[in-house]
Amino acid sequence: MRDDSANSVLLVDDDPTLQDLLSTQLEEADFNAGQAENGIDGLVKLRDLIPTVIISDLQKPRMSGVEFISVVRWRFPSIPVIVLSGSIQRELPAEAKPDRWLRKGAQQIPELLQAVHDLARTTPDRAYIPQVISIPVRTRPGGAGYFVLTCRGCLRSFQVTSTPESKGGEQAATCVHCEARVPFLIEGSEPM
Ligand SMILES: [Zn+2]
Repeated sequence: MRDDSANSVLLVDDDPTLQDLLSTQLEEADFNAGQAENGIDGLVKLRDLIPTVIISDLQKPRMSGVEFISVVRWRFPSIPVIVLSGSIQRELPAEAKPDRWLRKGAQQIPELLQAVHDLARTTPDRAYIPQVISIPVRTRPGGAGYFVLTCRGCLRSFQVTSTPESKGGEQAATCVHCEARVPFLIEGSEPM
């Protein structure tokens, strides 16, 4: 049987009132509650904390809930996700399907706590949660003085200016979106 006191929930919502209300309720139910105000912030939090359950809303600045859930699904396929939404359930792309979908609001809290309890039981022990390892991204020197890297933390792409030193060996850039360190290797071919 799992010890619920070891369980943690990551709440991703930009409404501080709801965040505080939910955090209090979750902590009273013996969950550790972590908060993030948007999808990018959520991904940053996931570097330090692998939660048992993620609760996310859909409307967020900087990164939409759909994009956030897609990245979570890809990187942490076994962490259950609960979506809180003020609007009626709409079609989401297959890669962003939540485990549960609940209406946002204080009167939904008992139902939400029950869903967290149910899903927490299905989450594998966090030591076994597979996470995408930071292996170097392979890239080629760009002709225009830059190259494009895809961050494995947030799956977004960004440009890096190439310098004469940026040839050979493993190097690293900082993702402009989530500020993750992105190691990369320049492929060996000489430019034409
Ligand atoms: Zn990133």
